[in-house]
Amino acid sequence: MLILGGGIIGLEMGTVYSTLGARLDVVEMLDGLMQGADRDLVKIWQKMNAKRFDNIMLKTKTVSARALPEGIEVTFASAEEGGTAPAPQVYDLVLQAVGRTPNGKKIAADKAGVAVTDRGFINVDIQMRTNVPHIFAIGDIVGQPMLAHKAVHEAHVAAEVIAGELQGNKELASAAFNARVIPSVAYTDPEVAWVGLTEDQAKAQGIKVKKGLFPWTASGRAIANGRDEGVTKLLFDDSPEAHGHGKILGGGMVGTHAGDMIGEVALAIEMGADAVDIGKTIHPHPTLGESIGMAAEVAHGSCTDVPPARK
Ligand SMILES: Cc1cc2nc3c(=O)[nH]c(=O)nc-3n(C[C@H](O)[C@H](O)[C@H](O)COP(=O)(O)OP(=O)(O)OC[C@H]3O[C@@H](n4cnc5c(N)ncnc54)[C@H](O)[C@@H]3O)c2cc1C
Repeated sequence: MLILGGGIIGLEMGTVYSTLGARLDVVEMLDGLMQGADRDLVKIWQKMNAKRFDNIMLKTKTVSARALPEGIEVTFASAEEGGTAPAPQVYDLVLQAVGRTPNGKKIAADKAGVAVTDRGFINVDIQMRTNVPHIFAIGDIVGQPMLAHKAVHEAHVAAEVIAGELQGNKELASAAFNARVIPSVAYTDPEVAWVGLTEDQAKAQGIKVKKGLFPWTASGRAIANGRDEGVTKLLFDDSPEAHGHGKILGGGMVGTHAGDMIGEVALAIEMGADAVDIGKTIHPHPTLGESIGMAAEVAHGSCTDVPPARK
C-alpha cells in the first residue's frame, strides 16, 4: 500500500492498515514525516514503526497514478531541483492523505457578500465574525490548524457572541477566541502529542530555551506497561529576561496515551507556569502523567528519578 502524504492522517490510517497486514510505502514532499511535531519525538516514533514500512520516500512528489490490470502504477519525481526520484511502482492500494482544502469558494459564500480568500478560506475576527457583521464562521474554513477541538471552541465563541447580542448580555457578547495554543495529537502507536513551540521553532525564532527531557525508561508505569520507549519533553523560556524562571513555551510526548496527557501541558502554557510550578505539582505515582512533572524537574535540575546530566 502506498500512502500519499506522511502527515498525521496518513500515518494514522497507515498504522491501521499495517496492523491488518499491509506493507507500507509512504511518499512525502517535505524532508520528514509528521511535520509540525518535535523531531526528537518523531525520531522515536519512526524507530518504533520502522518495521511497518518498506520505503519512506522523503522530498518526493507523486506525479501520476495509472490503473493497470496488476494494480495502480504510481510515478514519482524529486521535490528538489536536480534531485533523483524512485522508479515507478505498482501498488495494490493507494491511500490519498494530502490536500485537504477549504470549500469557501465551492459554497458560493461570496453570494452572501462574505469575502473568501484565494485559497478558499473565510477570514474572521476574534469573535468569529466575517466581513458581513451578522454572518459568523468557525472550523476548518477559517484556517489552520484544521482540528475538531479548535472548531468546537470557535463555535462556542460564535454562539456566545450571537446569544449575547440578541439578549443584550454584554459579558456574553464580548466573548472572543484567544487561546494561546492548540494541541495536536497523532493517534498512532505510540501516540505523539505536542503543543506550543517545538525546539526547531524556538531556534528559528531566536528564542533561547531550556529543555527538560524525561525518558520513560525511568517511569515505573511505562516499564510496568511494557512500553517504556516514550519520552516527555518540555521547553522553558531561557532568555536573560526570564532570570532563570522562564515560563513553559511548549512541550510534547511520544508514548502510549500521549494524547491523553497533552492537555496538562496546554493548561500550563495558558496559565504561564514555570518549571517549579509544574515540578512541584504533585502527580500521582505510578502514572505516565508523572513524566510531565519529572520533565519539569529535569529542566529545573532537581529530578531525582533520572541520573544527573553529565557536565
Ligand atoms: C481522516 C481525518 C481524520 C481526522 N482526525 C482528527 C482528529 O483525530 N482530531 C481532530 O481534532 N481533528 C481531526 N480531523 C479534522 C476534523 O475532522 C476537522 O477539523 C473538523 O471536522 C472540522 O469541523 P468543521 O465543522 O469545520 O468541518 P466539517 O466537520 O467538515 O463539517 C462541515 C460540514 O458541512 C457540510 N457541508 C459542506 N458544504 C455544505 C453545504 N453547501 N450545505 C450544507 N452543508 C454543507 C459537510 O458535509 C460537513 O458535514 C480529521 C480529519 C480527517 C479528514
